[in-house]
Amino acid sequence: MRYWGYLALKLGAAGALLYGAGRVLFGLLPPPPPVRHIDLDPFGTDLRFTVLVMIYTILSAGVLWAILLDHRYRCRTCLCRLRMPLLTGSWTHVLIGRPRTEYICPYGHGTLKVEELQSTGLTEPDWQPHEDMWKELAKK
Ligand SMILES: [Zn+2]
Repeated sequence: MRYWGYLALKLGAAGALLYGAGRVLFGLLPPPPPVRHIDLDPFGTDLRFTVLVMIYTILSAGVLWAILLDHRYRCRTCLCRLRMPLLTGSWTHVLIGRPRTEYICPYGHGTLKVEELQSTGLTEPDWQPHEDMWKELAKK
């Protein structure tokens, strides 16, 4: 729950920031002159406004992509960035051991396994939580 709440918080903050930036950017543009006394929608009729909308859209998509990419490689428990990427498997022995990258939480909460070979469509990364390591040590 904490994992998804953090994502919602980041998306909300980015949305508010982009909304404010959009209001400022589009407020700075002078209104386009009316054509034959008709106020047309400036998108598609005013080049400056149309280019600004295109740049703003690309910027917004980039921010959304960066947020999702950052969130994908975070621990599901403590929200730390996953570290120590380890390449496993082989590209030459795909049937025996598929190539993938494993990331671990620095505090030992779990492992994220990301498939490098996407031959059967997009495969979601596999998060495997670890049991409490102190509990395992206490058993022995
Ligand atoms: Zn963690």
